[in-house]
Amino acid sequence: MKLAQFTRQLKPSETLAISTKAKTLRAQGRNIIDFGLGEPDFATPGHIMRAAEHAMAEGFTKYTPPAGLPALRRAIADKLKRDNGLDYAPENIIVSCGAKQALYNVIMVLVEQGDEVIVPGPYWVTYPTQVLLAGGTPVSVPTTAADDFKVTGEVLRRYLTPRTRGIILNSPCNPTGAVYTPEELEDLARVLLDTDLFIITDEIYEHIIFDGIEQRSIATLHPALKERSIVINGFSKAYAMTGWRLGYCAGPREVMEMCDRLQSQTTSNATAFVQVAGIEALTGPQDSVRAMAQAFEQRRNFVVARLNAIDGMTCNMPHGAFYTFPQIDALFGRRAKGQPLLTSADVVSYLLEVAGVALVPGEAFGDDRSMRLSYASSMAELEEGLARVDRAVQQLE
Ligand code: PLP
Repeated sequence: MKLAQFTRQLKPSETLAISTKAKTLRAQGRNIIDFGLGEPDFATPGHIMRAAEHAMAEGFTKYTPPAGLPALRRAIADKLKRDNGLDYAPENIIVSCGAKQALYNVIMVLVEQGDEVIVPGPYWVTYPTQVLLAGGTPVSVPTTAADDFKVTGEVLRRYLTPRTRGIILNSPCNPTGAVYTPEELEDLARVLLDTDLFIITDEIYEHIIFDGIEQRSIATLHPALKERSIVINGFSKAYAMTGWRLGYCAGPREVMEMCDRLQSQTTSNATAFVQVAGIEALTGPQDSVRAMAQAFEQRRNFVVARLNAIDGMTCNMPHGAFYTFPQIDALFGRRAKGQPLLTSADVVSYLLEVAGVALVPGEAFGDDRSMRLSYASSMAELEEGLARVDRAVQQLE
């Protein structure tokens, strides 16, 4: 059958490909430790689950307005004020089936054929793919471990062309865990203020942040930037609600109106009782959010030290999210059964087969010198998994 042209841009998710391979090995009886997944290992807090149960019993089983329940949009507006210092009216907020859909709506509404969109790399793989689906051209601005995986204003300026329409920022970042300081954001802001680019700022990892650092949104820096910013956020990471599919965006009225229209013609609305649970997540006790962040911080400390103790791996200290992005290119050229490992995919395949540990090759995020390790796993698994990785690396010739 003839498929639509745009399907050529539809790449299968590399993270899912690894987890499928890991599942196959597991089905064959192998003990596989999975550090590939991008979801908290914690259960959704009980009070949020109970809110969903009550909501179902109370009849929240019907369509809601496409943009979301008014009470949830209000709760999100209050949250953006409380946590981020951002003033948005409920009308400037659209609730979607996950931050991923919120992002998709925004990109579809803002990007057209020939538009360039700047995506600092290493990046979450969905950004360039969604830009391509909209007919745009993602322009990766590579960063390295030496830059702490952050782009500066000076570098950003070099990538601007008359076709540049926007930029996608993500802090704390998946896959590197990098967090922009207010000064670094100000440095980018100085360049962006000279342009009319839209700024998509994905803040979904805002609460998973360490070392006493506070999350800062670039939209807070200047009113002129806020007018062109769209904040993306969701419930998956902070409240361990990946499977519930609930996210949102906040931004200028005309952009939100079109997102509302687009969503009304695609998925209609996020699940009604999930939206009620979202209100509870934002307005109920926040101690589980803090407890999860503390657990992630302890694991990060262990994982970074352990990775740096492995010959051939070096790892920066991430300050947020739950990923490390160690450099592994020192292993390139070393041999397994006579075969040289030449790419991040080779190293990751070797570690899956020999150590039984699933990781994601850095090439999936636009950086072939590294791999991503998610530490959303128990300490026992992290200790065992990294000991296995260490042994497997030592076996290389
Ligand atoms: N943004 C980033 C940077 C992510 O890593 C993810 C999920 O992995 C998302 C957005 C999407 O989250 P959601 O589950 O809300 O669609």
